[in-house]
Amino acid sequence: MILGPIFLAVLLLALIWSLVMSRIEEDEKLAIQNALANNKNIAHVAAENLSQVLERMTLYTKLAADYVGGERKALAYLNPTLLGDRAYVRLAIFDRNSQLLHTSSRAKAEPGFANLIEQAGKRWSDSAAIPSIVVGHPPEDASEAWRIPLLLRFSAQNDFQGYLAAYLDLGYFLRLYQGVNLGTGARIEIIDENGFQLAESNGVTLSVNRGINSAAYFQKARTGSDVFARPGEGTLAAFALEKAKNYPMTVAVSRDRDEILKDIAPNRQRYVWWALAVSAGVLLTMFSMTALAYRQRRIHHALTVTEREKQRLIEQLENEKNNAYHIASHDHLTGLPNRLLFAEMSASHLSRARRSRKHYATLFVDLDRFKTINDSLGHRVGDLLLQTVASRLLGCLREADVIARFGGDEFVALVTEVESVGDVAAIAAKMVETVGEPCRNLDGHDLEVRPSIGIALYPQDGQDIETLLKHADTAMYEAKRAGRGTFRFFDQALNSKAGLHLELEHGMRRALENQEFCIHYQPQVGLSDFRLSGLEALIRWNHPKHGLIFPGEFIPLAEENGLISALGKWVVEAVCLQLTEWRQRGIPLVPVAVNISARQMNDMHLVRELCDAVDHYELAPELLKLEITESCFMNHPERVVRILEILAKKGFSIEIDDYGTGFSSLGYIKMFPVHTIKIDRTFIKNIRNDTGDLEIVASTIALGHKLGLSIIAEGVETREQMIHLKTAGCDDIQGYYFHRPASASDIEPILIRGDFKHDGMAH
Ligand code: C2E
Ligand code: MG
Ligand code: MG
Repeated sequence: MILGPIFLAVLLLALIWSLVMSRIEEDEKLAIQNALANNKNIAHVAAENLSQVLERMTLYTKLAADYVGGERKALAYLNPTLLGDRAYVRLAIFDRNSQLLHTSSRAKAEPGFANLIEQAGKRWSDSAAIPSIVVGHPPEDASEAWRIPLLLRFSAQNDFQGYLAAYLDLGYFLRLYQGVNLGTGARIEIIDENGFQLAESNGVTLSVNRGINSAAYFQKARTGSDVFARPGEGTLAAFALEKAKNYPMTVAVSRDRDEILKDIAPNRQRYVWWALAVSAGVLLTMFSMTALAYRQRRIHHALTVTEREKQRLIEQLENEKNNAYHIASHDHLTGLPNRLLFAEMSASHLSRARRSRKHYATLFVDLDRFKTINDSLGHRVGDLLLQTVASRLLGCLREADVIARFGGDEFVALVTEVESVGDVAAIAAKMVETVGEPCRNLDGHDLEVRPSIGIALYPQDGQDIETLLKHADTAMYEAKRAGRGTFRFFDQALNSKAGLHLELEHGMRRALENQEFCIHYQPQVGLSDFRLSGLEALIRWNHPKHGLIFPGEFIPLAEENGLISALGKWVVEAVCLQLTEWRQRGIPLVPVAVNISARQMNDMHLVRELCDAVDHYELAPELLKLEITESCFMNHPERVVRILEILAKKGFSIEIDDYGTGFSSLGYIKMFPVHTIKIDRTFIKNIRNDTGDLEIVASTIALGHKLGLSIIAEGVETREQMIHLKTAGCDDIQGYYFHRPASASDIEPILIRGDFKHDGMAH
């Protein structure tokens, strides 16, 4: 954020200055170009002028030729003054032997040209025909330094006659340009063909013999115009060079580069000022933006720090709150929940228990003779003992259960979702056994305590936790009275039942061998025509000592001790046998629903047993409906689906029993090969009360139908419930309203009659 403005400013400054520099460069280039063009013009005019002057010398050679040819009066014209030619100072004629024939001066000899004639002799010796000119260097004598000796040879009828010599007054020539404004640092120079500077004018003064003789100069003289260093001086200047036509002389017009650039200096200054002003603006903006960004960053940083601090305080507060809650809700000695938390947790468990078919129980645990130990061995030993007991009790429970210490030696547990009262008894028995084991080395003491446990069941012993606790407490005193180190149910009848459960569990295998089990059948009725649509096979144990025992008492035990598979196989066999018998006697058959326990669904033998049974008795598989519960899908759903697919393919119809007590949705169930949904009786029970159950049932029926499932309701006890279900579109119903489960012989007349029209339409 801070680097942004700096980067931008650097970019802008680079742009501004590169613009200015390129503009200045452009201006300079233009000024030089202008100067070059200007110089070129002047050089051109001057060179033209010089040519004309020299041309006149060619004219004078004609007069000289005439003179040598005998025309004496021609001589009269060969005087520059007489000719009115101010460019030349003197004219002299030499014959072919270099003898002076005539001079316009009063002198008798012209030694000044001797050197030139000698040079000319050499140069013209082998090219006699070329009428040309030899240009000499100015004389050493300063007063005559402006005079450049020239020599021209002349001929008559191609016959070499002699030389015409003259002094060209370069001073006069250059003075013509003194009025021309060339600008400061400008010069006009006349150079000979060897690059020797003959004369120079800088617009104000004229100078000669500056000794400038440079081959490079001569080279440049041939290349027109350019900027290069002035020979002998080194300063750069813009040169324009123009050779005089036909004559070995060149006019060089130049101007120092620095002087040219001085002309545009104000412009350049303006640009630089402008760039400086803009740069200052950019820098100012950059600084203010950076300062702003820095300020914002500081504010942001401060805010982040504050926010972090706030968060830390919130967390600290939360932790302290949690700690405070933990201290307030837990027993400091054992770390178990205290009475307060127990009440809270129990309330939430019990609200869920309303829907559950499983058992919930409150167990009140009290340690026998704890007070004596505490008093005699001290609180420290007492505390250690309580901690040991707490951890042992915790070990007897499952994750979903709750255990709390109410103070002193009182512990309370809430046991949730157990299959049977027998299971509650088993947990209590385990507690008695585990807590009763010796506690070694409690501050050097080996101790043994036994608990007395009172049990109250939900909902029969109480609908709320206070009542349950009160009744569990009462039961605990019963346990103490019964001799301590044992447990007692609040419901006296259950105390004998707990014993009964143990008896049943041990006697089950023998009962199977002794054929003590039998099947009762309960009719299922179609709501559209009140015809008998099926039967449900429900197992019973005809106990020699205890009479008829219902499956709720022993199926959970069988599931636990593994006998459920054998029991299930027996039921299928018994149902098939019964159907065969009815068929033999010509009694009409309806499909019979057989309950399959979740434990059986994990057993691959199930498929083989069912198929073998229908094949063996030659029964259509459609005559068997298999009732499974949602809990089947809990473990290994893929395996269950595979089993169900094989069974459905064989022709068995699959039904979800107790629908609504599990956690699966219809959408989930629809993914499995299921044909029927059996709505659990807890929903039917309250259908007429304003509990929303009617809505649940009606929407389940509607949705089930949409998914192509047929719906049966169980536990229908009243006509009102039947009417509600009929209105909601339920397909079949089962319940005491039409018939209680009954023995095969009692069911036979119904099978023969085939309907319940009388009962259904009655009233
Ligand atoms: P379920 O499959 O839901 O069977 C229906 C239970 O509801 C039966 O109890 C039946 O007597 C009872 N019932 C029928 N109509 C009414 C009614 O109108 N009101 C009320 N309150 N109850 C009614 P049952 O025979 O005691 O069976 C209890 C459970 O035991 C069955 O529930 C089923 O889950 C299991 N069970 C029964 N037979 C077998 C079996 O052969 N194998 C397995 N694995 N489980 C079985
Ligand atoms: Mg059933
Ligand atoms: Mg059921």
